[in-house]
Amino acid sequence: MIDYRSDTVTKPTKEMLDFMFKAPVGDDVFQEDPTVNELQQYVAAYFAKEDALFCSSGTQTNQIAINVHVKPGGEVICHEESHIYKYEGGGIAKNSGASVRLLPGNRGRLTLESIQKAVNADDIHFPVTQLISLEDTANRGGGAVYDFNEIIKISTFCKEKGLPLHLDGARLMNALAVNKVDPKVYAAEFDSISLCLSKGLGAPVGSLLLGTKQFIHKARRVRKVMGGGMRQAGIIAAGGLYAMKNNVDRLQLDHQRAVILGENLQQQTWVSEVFPVETNIVVFCLKKEKQKENVIQQFKDQGILVSSFGDGMIRLVVHLDITDEDIIQTSNVIQSILLN
Ligand SMILES: *Cc1c(COP(=O)(O)O)cnc(C)c1O
Repeated sequence: MIDYRSDTVTKPTKEMLDFMFKAPVGDDVFQEDPTVNELQQYVAAYFAKEDALFCSSGTQTNQIAINVHVKPGGEVICHEESHIYKYEGGGIAKNSGASVRLLPGNRGRLTLESIQKAVNADDIHFPVTQLISLEDTANRGGGAVYDFNEIIKISTFCKEKGLPLHLDGARLMNALAVNKVDPKVYAAEFDSISLCLSKGLGAPVGSLLLGTKQFIHKARRVRKVMGGGMRQAGIIAAGGLYAMKNNVDRLQLDHQRAVILGENLQQQTWVSEVFPVETNIVVFCLKKEKQKENVIQQFKDQGILVSSFGDGMIRLVVHLDITDEDIIQTSNVIQSILLN
């Protein structure tokens, strides 16, 4: 099966597994795991952030960040289709007791203008706005990348208002491969960043939370409370370290391959629209919404797994287990799909 359901389906290569097998380990709750410490230091330095914390998932890093930034009854501003709201099981309410202000925005991205209007005035009727959260790349936007100038405008506004700015950077490395902004320059605009190692980077497990020393100190406590303190976590952290050192430069290959799929889909009579392919995600809309299950099944019958993405939309995600041959085969399958 050629699996495009997500970039989370990648399996560690032999080289990555060897590296994990040899990793020195210790008790990370005592902060004594040398590999976890190395990963945290490496990624903190990569983004010129003071500190980093290795966590089990991107949901955990996002939820910890929200919990540190927000008090119960406060409000988080985010895109209406953002992962922190839509795909984290109501965690903002459950873990942090905060309310959410959902904003529309072009392909998963917010603008300064929409944020400015949504920050509540100091009025006892309104929840106190306590956090702005952006997602780059934006999953529901089909892997859309923010214009860095918009991020600077948003962060400048947040600083003026004393509001923390969080980044759900599950696919941040994909965004940086496209916007070509220096990671240190980019990261300076955010108070906290969540970065997934288990998506396009191809590590089996883990995410990192980045921020100031003080922020990470608080985050470490929240991680423990959430049951996320791990012991000899160096075994899995090594996969992340290997990924950061070996799998970043190759991301543009995934992007080029995704473009080929997008161009091919665009030519099909049964496709009404393909979202602009900016990174490794291809989202397309069917002319006839009702044919979605049929299309997914026809792909499956020919050895290709794709996923439903809501109303008449299908998503394909390219990742490091997808080869050029897979792309050729997929293009043939796309052309063979029959619909009436
Ligand atoms: C995958 C993803 C996450 C984190 O997901 P986990 O499965 O919890 O690691 C967060 N945000 C976005 C946009 C994602 O795509």
